[in-house]
Amino acid sequence: MSHIIHRNPRRVPPVAAHATGITITDRDGRTYLDASGGAAVSSLGHAHPDVLAAMHAQIDRNAYAHTAFFTCDAAEQLAARLAADAPGDLDQVYLVSGGSEAMETALKLARQYWLEAGQPQRTTFIARRQSYHGNTLGALAVGGNAWRRQPFAPLLIEVPRISPCYEYRGRADGQSTDDYTAALLQELEDAILAAGADKVIGFVAETVVGATAGAVPPTPGYFRGVRRLCDQYGLLLILDEVMCGMGRSGTLYAFEQEGVLPDLVVLGKGLGAGYQPIGAVLARAPIVQRLRDGSGAFLHGHTYMGHPVAAAAALAVQKVIQRDCLLGAVTVRGAALRRMLREAFGNHPHVGDIRGRGLLIGLELVADRDSKAPFDPARRLHAVIKDEAMARGLMIYPMGGTIDGRHGDHILLAPPFIATEAELAEITSRLADTLHATL
Ligand code: PLP
Repeated sequence: MSHIIHRNPRRVPPVAAHATGITITDRDGRTYLDASGGAAVSSLGHAHPDVLAAMHAQIDRNAYAHTAFFTCDAAEQLAARLAADAPGDLDQVYLVSGGSEAMETALKLARQYWLEAGQPQRTTFIARRQSYHGNTLGALAVGGNAWRRQPFAPLLIEVPRISPCYEYRGRADGQSTDDYTAALLQELEDAILAAGADKVIGFVAETVVGATAGAVPPTPGYFRGVRRLCDQYGLLLILDEVMCGMGRSGTLYAFEQEGVLPDLVVLGKGLGAGYQPIGAVLARAPIVQRLRDGSGAFLHGHTYMGHPVAAAAALAVQKVIQRDCLLGAVTVRGAALRRMLREAFGNHPHVGDIRGRGLLIGLELVADRDSKAPFDPARRLHAVIKDEAMARGLMIYPMGGTIDGRHGDHILLAPPFIATEAELAEITSRLADTLHATL
């Protein structure tokens, strides 16, 4: 009997007893290969000695001091490091406890920026249909996950939503990638004009779409076009890198590969790599300067923002990524894993697409490869696959979702950056057994 309201309130999951490297062991001694980093969180695997040591040292020095009274070295050093490693003037950092809190922060900071810029009429965001930005009400409002939104729709602000950049589903037969990209950008421009350019606070998107579509990277030039339109019509560009940021795509920030500089970047998951709950917003300097010169107050705040132990953990994670050259490792191992997956599933009748960036990889499952027809949602394939994988000692992140009104299934893989080629091969082999048993 458990008193916790679990994710599935009818079922108590296995009890994680200990974890090391890319393996978690439950109380009954069963082991699970962490092929999804939880939910693209555990980038350094489990029990990394450097991160544990940094946390222990911080706890011994100062476990907590409220940010209304104090700052702390760990938070200051983390912010300085994030600022130094981010391109351009993206050098202002707001530290919170996770991705949803960070998204709420970005939305409110963007709104307050325009208020203080003398443009109070800017009251809406433009977002995309296939997206997830968090489960709190503001983040849910800009997100496009119909299933998660539906029960709470009456509580959510309505924002205009455009098509995602999702080539596998969205590009028509015979249409070139460039033409597809141009059509998407036209749709964004139309949405801006329909809303009234001077009414829009900003455009919100995941640089690489994570959980709702399964590691969908943008087409070449898509974000350069988005940035151009944001500049032309005065919108802030808010990129959600909660899942794809902090090295998971092979560069520290996924947007670096798109050749754009966003105005606000939302971080979580890999920032603390699971060692502590932590999220962050990175803002370009003029945005925060506007508040400094204006009201002098950002009307936001959380009890655990800038938490010393969380900041110390995240700082240690950053140091390990740099010292051990893990960004390069992500690129190499990501390519290796994609190669293994293509060899195993390239001709699989129910694997329609294998895609991703770095070690954020998605497999889209289809009933029919030619027509790309999805499976019947009544099969609840994602739940069945997850159980089958766990029974084989494999943690993967399968999701069923709505793709522009239609159901679709995919599996997300996001193993820790430290996974060896042998471990990636074992992941592929257990995944093959899992799919063999379920499809
Ligand atoms: N944004 C993206 C892209 C995410 O993938 C998630 C979580 O899955 C969030 C925001 C919300 O983060 P959190 O679950 O830490 O609140």
